[in-house]
Amino acid sequence: MTVVQFLSIAALSVPTGGTAAQKDALLTFLGRASVRISTGAGAVLYIDPYAEGDYSEPADIILVTHGHGDHNRTDLPKRNPGCAVIAPSGAVDERSAIHLAEYSATTIAGVGISAVPAYNANHPRGSCVGYILEFGGIKLYHAADTSLIPEMAALHKLGIDYALLPCDGKYNMGPEEASKAAVELGARHVIPIHSSAEGLAGRNASLVKHPGVIVIEPGKTLRLDPPMNTRLKSAL
Ligand SMILES: [Zn+2]
Ligand SMILES: [Zn+2]
Repeated sequence: MTVVQFLSIAALSVPTGGTAAQKDALLTFLGRASVRISTGAGAVLYIDPYAEGDYSEPADIILVTHGHGDHNRTDLPKRNPGCAVIAPSGAVDERSAIHLAEYSATTIAGVGISAVPAYNANHPRGSCVGYILEFGGIKLYHAADTSLIPEMAALHKLGIDYALLPCDGKYNMGPEEASKAAVELGARHVIPIHSSAEGLAGRNASLVKHPGVIVIEPGKTLRLDPPMNTRLKSAL
């Protein structure tokens, strides 16, 4: 076997997600806008806890996008000691919460967290934020409750891997507008959330058009992959 052959086989045989110390990053869709994320380095995050589901994995970070009752049930997840609660001002009733306004950022448990604008007629600007999370070479955007807004185009340059976009068409953009937002964002994958006016999920999720769309049923888990060049770098 030549050295070149050996290297290429070695690169291919590395499990997805990187070295033995680094596990796969996982996203579980709980319903509505609620998701749980486990990073490859072992941090557990919940975003917009509300939907009934499994909150037994203790949280290191709980993120809330705004104060509507279908987004801010911070009482649901179990918590690890030192768990950080992050929300825009006024969105949660916890004195220890860290308030992130749009265009501010922090890093907690190895996860980069940036708040970005999210607004529409039902969500006054400033009361609601989206989040861009960075972990293990992955950039994930949770858009919160919002319509297609001009600020989304500026996120294109970040190279978002996964964009979670609402598409209920009543309180937020509908599937057609979410499809346009996906183009503006230039995200590698789009995951429809908040896909019905009232329920945990609805048929609007299947109406979002994007080459990399991933429709996840409530309760199901998706493995999050970093972009190919990051995978190769960690394999070599
Ligand atoms: Zn809302
Ligand atoms: Zn909502």
